[in-house]
Amino acid sequence: MDKSPATEPESIDPSVHCASCDAVCCRLTVILMPEDHVPQWLVDHDDHGIEILAKGDDGWCAALDPLTMRCTIYADRPAICRKYAMGGPACREERRKWYGNALPTPVVLG
Ligand code: SF4
Repeated sequence: MDKSPATEPESIDPSVHCASCDAVCCRLTVILMPEDHVPQWLVDHDDHGIEILAKGDDGWCAALDPLTMRCTIYADRPAICRKYAMGGPACREERRKWYGNALPTPVVLG
């Protein structure tokens, strides 16, 4: 069986959950796609004039509630946010950069 990386499904770490994370992915630049419909006050432009999600002075997405660290436009969040896999390679890499070796212990709810 071909086990080359190109045919492997994206690996997910099931111990990673947004409930035990500081929403570090919501510090990344989100490029808006034509099909995205976010409130105009959340639209910013990068140095090349490309539409991106606005960020607050703290570096987090302006749509993130700083008290709850939850997305305030979750149902209408941009396509890039929808595709970002919780516990996937990109998620784990951002967590590793943010937390270093002090990764938070997963919280079990219920
Ligand atoms: S729109 Fe929501 S999910 Fe996307 S970066 Fe902002 S807070 Fe995070």
